[in-house]
Amino acid sequence: MFWQGGGEMGELTRGHDWHKTSLGDPEYWPQSLKTTLSILLNSRFPMFLWWGPELLCFYNDAYRPSLGENAKHPHILGMPAKEAWPEIWDTIKPLIDGVLKTGEATFYENLLLPIFRNNKMEEVYWTFSYSPVTNELGEREAVLVTCMETTLQVQLISNLQESERRFKILVDDVGVGITVLTGDDLVISVVNARFAQLVHRTVDQLAGHPIFNVIPEAAPDFKPIIAKVLRDQQAIYLFEKEYGVLSEGETVTGYLNLVYQPFSNETETGVMIICQDVTQQILSRRQVEQALEQLTLSKEAAQLGTFDLDLVNNTMLWDERCRQLFGITDFHELDYSNDFAAGLHPEDKDRILSLIDHLYKTPSTNGVYDVEYRTIGAADGRLRWVRAKGRVYYDAHDTAVRFIGSVLDITEQKDDDQRKSDFISMVSHELKTPLTLIKGYNQLLKEDVETATHPTAMSFLMQTEKQINKMIGLTESFLNVSMLESGKISLNKTLFDMDDLIKQVHSESLASGQTHNIHCATKEGSIVEADFNKISQVLHNFISNAVKYSKPGSAILIDCEQLDKQVKVTVKDTGMGINKQDVPFVFERFYRVQNPQINAISGFGIGLYLSQEIIERHNGKIGVESVPDEGSSFWFSIPLAEK
Ligand code: ADP
Repeated sequence: MFWQGGGEMGELTRGHDWHKTSLGDPEYWPQSLKTTLSILLNSRFPMFLWWGPELLCFYNDAYRPSLGENAKHPHILGMPAKEAWPEIWDTIKPLIDGVLKTGEATFYENLLLPIFRNNKMEEVYWTFSYSPVTNELGEREAVLVTCMETTLQVQLISNLQESERRFKILVDDVGVGITVLTGDDLVISVVNARFAQLVHRTVDQLAGHPIFNVIPEAAPDFKPIIAKVLRDQQAIYLFEKEYGVLSEGETVTGYLNLVYQPFSNETETGVMIICQDVTQQILSRRQVEQALEQLTLSKEAAQLGTFDLDLVNNTMLWDERCRQLFGITDFHELDYSNDFAAGLHPEDKDRILSLIDHLYKTPSTNGVYDVEYRTIGAADGRLRWVRAKGRVYYDAHDTAVRFIGSVLDITEQKDDDQRKSDFISMVSHELKTPLTLIKGYNQLLKEDVETATHPTAMSFLMQTEKQINKMIGLTESFLNVSMLESGKISLNKTLFDMDDLIKQVHSESLASGQTHNIHCATKEGSIVEADFNKISQVLHNFISNAVKYSKPGSAILIDCEQLDKQVKVTVKDTGMGINKQDVPFVFERFYRVQNPQINAISGFGIGLYLSQEIIERHNGKIGVESVPDEGSSFWFSIPLAEK
């Protein structure tokens, strides 16, 4: 029996019961099968044979490992292919048929054909060829499969590809620039997008080129560093290194933290460069340093003092200037109640302390602190005026933890204002009686002069009366200011309709021979409890300003509306408007916008100050919206009377 002499074949078939197969005793097998089998069995290359119409299975020892343990071997020997390979039958049947029909061999590389082995379905890759086997009559009677399982290779390749892919993603995704330079020419063999971005190039412009061919401008600074790393085979770390690259003909500079890591293996040597852009951090740090320097300079120039209260550790730090403002001459450790509270003027103390207390307890205020107060010097007993601005800071639980701010000595300015208003009130007081007298005489004269016979004299007298009224108005407002400041002003509140007040002020304005088109759009039913005369004074002031600061003939509109339990009155003009930077100050005492146009218009800067005081005493609000060269809308609002 030929397999007994067939070496490996003997091992393979020993004990196999061929009588159970359709082939029967091997002694009587066709010669063509025996011949093909002897080739197959003597081959060390894995081979498989499908023979005859039923495609009976044969294979050699080299093929056995691919069948796995406890699976097909040995019982598929001599078994029809359809029964032996049910799991891949649908795939291989057309291939076998094709080969038998056409007589052409086929070749497949790394084809996935999952088979049952080792007690389970396994994903198996094959590289194989199917060749037809012809018998002595020239008929194609079998298909010889030379095959090799390539599962391991495929897995290896795919693992390799996966790890390459991961490395690429890693390199591409990290926020730092990475490049790997290899060989004597320092060819860029790996580069990520971040690196390309840092040197203002594209990855395509860099990859595969010697680095200093594509970024020649970096050579003077960086070539020696790389040379040193390669020579010493030691990593170099550089921090905040300035670099410059050319981009569209211009040098762009920045700062990098860099790592140069040398490497070498059997095939190549090189250096990996990792760089992190720290330009922004450095620029911001420089800005902060500059700002701090400027701050110190301006603090010194403005003679600003600073305070810093740590409310958690209960400490209070004042700089020298701040100490001076409280008349503290020694350097003892400061304390909120003994130094700050005790140093406040008795008339300001309660107001300031309760305001600070309110800020501590009310985070919705954003901790904004902006006050004026007087101090009595601890050592010298001197009175000083202080303007303090600052901020309370809160933690995540809305607990006040820090209170920081600055203080400015405004004593001189306050003294100036005081002298000004003392003088003005003295003059106004002195003028009041003579002006009333002149007004009386003028009145008498007017009665004596007949308009018909002396039209010119009458017109002069009218003019004089107008001027006298203006002066009386002015002296009254100066007196009002001084009364206000000495707390002597009182409100005479009655219930009235704002509509009536507006109509009255409107007709008074018209009667005084206005040069502008003053209109009013009001509606009845805005009942307020307020001082009729004082609110009229506010409205008069708005109107006379609108007249003063807009061109003759232009329109002025008085409007009135009800908003959320308030009545809001607006006077809108189309005049010169107010610059944004002046707007916050127009309600301050003696403030006048400084420009040649305004200097030519008479005024003292107290009308709006008085108006604000009057409105605030009515628990109301006052404000202005203005656009330069387009006009202003001055408004006030006060609460409607309770029904
Ligand atoms: P006065 O008009 O006497 O100077 P006010 O207190 O009434 O004083 O006004 C303060 C400043 O506000 C004015 O000097 C002027 O610069 C500016 N101002 C007031 N009303 C207007 C307005 N309607 N248009 C432009 N500027 C105005």
